Amino acid sequence: MSTPHTFTGRCTCNFVRYRMTSKPLLVHCCHCRWCQRETGSAFVINAMVEAERVELLTGEVEVIVTPSESGKGQKISRCPKCHVALWSNYPGGGDAIRFVRVGTLDEPDQLPPDAHIYTMSKQPWVVLPPGAAVFEEFYELEKVWPKESLERLAVVKAKRNQG
Ligand SMILES: [Zn+2]
Ligand SMILES: [Zn+2]
Repeated sequence: MSTPHTFTGRCTCNFVRYRMTSKPLLVHCCHCRWCQRETGSAFVINAMVEAERVELLTGEVEVIVTPSESGKGQKISRCPKCHVALWSNYPGGGDAIRFVRVGTLDEPDQLPPDAHIYTMSKQPWVVLPPGAAVFEEFYELEKVWPKESLERLAVVKAKRNQG
């Protein structure tokens, strides 16, 4: 069982088990075509979190560089045995921010999306709940992220500029 602010997850064959040690910065539900293709589904749900807050409990991940819309590629960390994607890193956030695939958590219900992005390519049958934060493309972080998450992101950026 997870305590409210830790979240465990795994791949399908159970070789990789991991733990997120805090709440994420924000949870995106991305409806873009790229995420639809990568998941073979209607959207992906990504919990963005500092890399050091994701601990491997067992196994290891294989990093696969995968084309992305920006042209810069994303690094998808997959189980080397069953190849399920556990998290990815995008050039924007660098290696410091992981996009954990919420569906790989043991209790994915705990992290519903904070924001729906790229809804211009949302599957028409996906009906979003009233009051959801919905963006046809993307948004300005300062207007959407909670203050605490913006402060955590500032710490990540400060560390990157030092190193
Ligand atoms: Zn596996
Ligand atoms: Zn996407």
